[in-house]
Amino acid sequence: MDTDPNHLFKDTAVAFSYKSDGALKKANFIFSLVNHPAISSMATSFVKFALKLRLPVEGIIRRTAFDHFCGGISIEDSEKVVERIGAYGVGTILDYSVEGEDSEEAFDDTMEQVIRTIDKASASPHIPFSVFKPTGVGSFLLMEKVQRGDQLTEDEARAFGRIRERFRRICGHGYACGVPVLIDAEDWCIQETIDSLAGEMMATYNKERVVVFNTYQMYRTESLTNLRQAFEVARDNNYFFGAKLVRGAYMEKERERAARLGYPSPIHPNKEATDKAFNDALAFCVQHIDRVAVMCGSHNEYSNAYLTELMKKNGLGNDDKRVWFAQLYGMSDNISFNLARKGYNVAKYVPYGPVRSVMPYLFRRAEENTSVAGQSSRELRLIREEIRRRRNQRA
Ligand SMILES: Cc1cc2nc3c(=O)[nH]c(=O)nc-3n(C[C@H](O)[C@H](O)[C@H](O)COP(=O)(O)OP(=O)(O)OC[C@H]3O[C@@H](n4cnc5c(N)ncnc54)[C@H](O)[C@@H]3O)c2cc1C
Repeated sequence: MDTDPNHLFKDTAVAFSYKSDGALKKANFIFSLVNHPAISSMATSFVKFALKLRLPVEGIIRRTAFDHFCGGISIEDSEKVVERIGAYGVGTILDYSVEGEDSEEAFDDTMEQVIRTIDKASASPHIPFSVFKPTGVGSFLLMEKVQRGDQLTEDEARAFGRIRERFRRICGHGYACGVPVLIDAEDWCIQETIDSLAGEMMATYNKERVVVFNTYQMYRTESLTNLRQAFEVARDNNYFFGAKLVRGAYMEKERERAARLGYPSPIHPNKEATDKAFNDALAFCVQHIDRVAVMCGSHNEYSNAYLTELMKKNGLGNDDKRVWFAQLYGMSDNISFNLARKGYNVAKYVPYGPVRSVMPYLFRRAEENTSVAGQSSRELRLIREEIRRRRNQRA
C-alpha cells in the first residue's frame, strides 16, 4: 500500500492555490504566533481579558485569526469563502459556531440557523453537507441526566422531547432538501444520549440513502465496537449507515473527569491505539460500503492517504459519492486541496458567527495548534515553503 503522505500531500502550489500572497503572509504570522506556547498563551490571555473589558479588539481579531479560520459573521458573509474554495473543488460545511448559550430560546435559534444552512446548501453546488452540535440544540445537563438513566421531572421530560423534536426538524429538513446532515460528537457523558438520538434519525431518514451521519470519536476505547454494532442495527433494520470518523477533541478533559470522578478513562491509553482504531474504522466502513457512507474528519496525513489506498484496493473511484474527506478551514490545506485536485470528495468545516461568539472556537484552534505535537510546525513549514516557492518563481 502506498500510504506515504509525501506522494499525495506535498504540493504546496496546489495546497495554497486559493490564497493570495497577502493571505499567505497572514497565515505565516498566525501560525508563527501560535507555534510558541508562551506567546500563544500570552496572546490568548490578553484577548480574553480585552474582550471581558469590552476593549475594541474585535476588528483586529476579525482581520487576523477570524479571517483565517472562519467564513464570516453570517451565512451571507461566508459566501466569498464558499466560492473561493469551491472553485478548486473543495466544498464548504457551514458550521454555526456560537457556543455557550443555554436557553430554550437559544436552542431554537440555533436550530433555525442550521435549517438556514440546509436551505443555503440545497441552493449551492459547493455546500455538500450541513452540520450541528447537539449541545447547540439542547441542554448538556439534561442529556447527561438521560444518559445516567435518572428519573426526569415532567418539565425535563418535556424539554427532552423538544431536543428530539429539534433533531427531527433539522434531519427532516435535510432529508426534504437532499442535504446530508452531520451530527457532531461531544463529551463522553452525553454521547450515549446523542448516539441514541442519532440512531433514531438514521432509522427514519436513511431508508433510501445516507442523510444522517453520526460521529465516532476513535480515541474512545469502545468506539470501534459501537461503530460495528450501530452498523449491524442499521443493516438488520434495513437503513443505510452514515459515519463521520474523528479521533476526538476532548481528550484532556475526558481523562481529567474520569480521574476526578473515579471511573476508568474512556480514552485509549496512547496515540498509537487511537490511530489504530481510527484506521481500522476506515477499513471497516470501506469494507461495508454497500450500506455505508463515510467521512474521514482528520488532519492526519497517514489516515487520509490510507483511505485513498483502501478505496483503490476495493475498486472505488476517487469520486465515489459514499466517501468523503474533511478538514477544518484554515488547516491542512495540503491535504484538502491535493485530494480535491485528484478528484476525491473533499469539504472543509467553515465556522461562522459573530466574532465574539466564535472566540471559544478560535481559542481551541490556538490551543490545538500549540499543543498537538508537530501539527503547527507542519502548517508553518508548508506555508513558508509556499512563500519561498512563489518568491523564487518571480525571481
Ligand atoms: C472535519 C472535522 C470534524 C470534526 N468533528 C469533530 C466532532 O464532531 N467531535 C470531536 O470530538 N472532534 C471533532 N473533530 C476534531 C478531531 O476529533 C480531532 O481532535 C482533530 O481532528 C485532531 O485529530 P486528527 O485526526 O486530525 O490528527 P492527529 O494529530 O493525528 O491526532 C490528534 C488526536 O489524536 C488523539 N490523541 C492524541 N494523543 C493521544 C494520546 N496520548 N492517547 C490517545 N489519543 C491521543 C486525540 O484525539 C487528538 O486530538 C473534527 C475534526 C475535523 C477535521
